[in-house]
Amino acid sequence: MTFKITKKAYLIASIALGLGVNTTAFANDKIPVVASFSILGDLVSEVGGSHIDITTLVKANGDAHVYSPTPKDALAIRKAKLLIVNGLNFEGWMPRILESAHFQGTTIVASDGINVITLGDDEHEDHADHDEKHHEDADHDEKHEDHADHDEMHHEDADHDEKHEDHADHDEMHHEDTDHDEKHEEHASEHHHDGVDPHAWNSIINVKTYVKNIASGLSQVDPENANDYQQNAQGYLQKLDKLEIKLHAKLDTIPLSQRKLITPHDAFAYFARDFKIEFIAPQGTSTESEASASDMAAIIKQIRKDKVGAVFMENIADNRIIEQISQETDAKIGGELFSGSLSDKQGPASTYLKMIEYNVNTIVSALTK
Ligand SMILES: [Zn+2]
Repeated sequence: MTFKITKKAYLIASIALGLGVNTTAFANDKIPVVASFSILGDLVSEVGGSHIDITTLVKANGDAHVYSPTPKDALAIRKAKLLIVNGLNFEGWMPRILESAHFQGTTIVASDGINVITLGDDEHEDHADHDEKHHEDADHDEKHEDHADHDEMHHEDADHDEKHEDHADHDEMHHEDTDHDEKHEEHASEHHHDGVDPHAWNSIINVKTYVKNIASGLSQVDPENANDYQQNAQGYLQKLDKLEIKLHAKLDTIPLSQRKLITPHDAFAYFARDFKIEFIAPQGTSTESEASASDMAAIIKQIRKDKVGAVFMENIADNRIIEQISQETDAKIGGELFSGSLSDKQGPASTYLKMIEYNVNTIVSALTK
């Protein structure tokens, strides 16, 4: 009897050990994690630290809008305990590769809980959505501030003349120019984004949510190290707070009326919302699309009319459009912005923190010339 129980226990232990080797990590093993693209990869590395072994699918300077996964990617996905994606229909190629790789792990959507920008002009919906979150989640101070800021911008506030002007200016930019509005609608139907703008990482406010989601995803698959993940996240959130203050101070030197610029594809709506800048983009929200001749003509007309200060290249877009616009309007090319991908290690935007700062510095120096 005693012998039998021992034998049975031994058998169970062997099975557990056998499974353990294949699917769970022991104390010294790193947790296999996959991030969909370079910006997420950097954030996940910051939070995961030495506990994880990360594979980033779309590498530095790669364009996640038009990516084709490789057999190597499938292998990494098959082994992963945790997959972290942006969401908001950004990784259209992901469902297929997950299926073919027979992914069994946990998926975390980094953008869950952010205040989403919908394509087309829908500030009211956006605002309502925000309200909901505001009540649900009393702990997130930055959301409160953001909300208050929003309110100021959208309702009349006689005490704040400057803000009021800002509001009027903003409205003018979005409603007066019918060409521009039409273009927005076109874009909304043209692309396979189901009406949401995926480029949420271009807002530091949103990235704070990304970091919290990443920390909770890692804690979920590796509860033993949950404290470390939370600590790493807290440390990184502090860096984000500092950077946010620093960058706002830099942009505050530029009058609101001068904060207009052109990029090839429409990747900066969240950035624009945080920093009160207007971006105009011939390509729409995906690099997949091509700018039509009428789009180009409308933009050139608008640049001349609005005296847009600078046009910018991107590391992942069709920069010929920008060269053409610059030639036809005398608008200066203000440099290169990193919209949806980090630079390689030698480049100026090899981490998320460097990327956002580099973009702001590039914009500020172009608009102050
Ligand atoms: Zn994009």
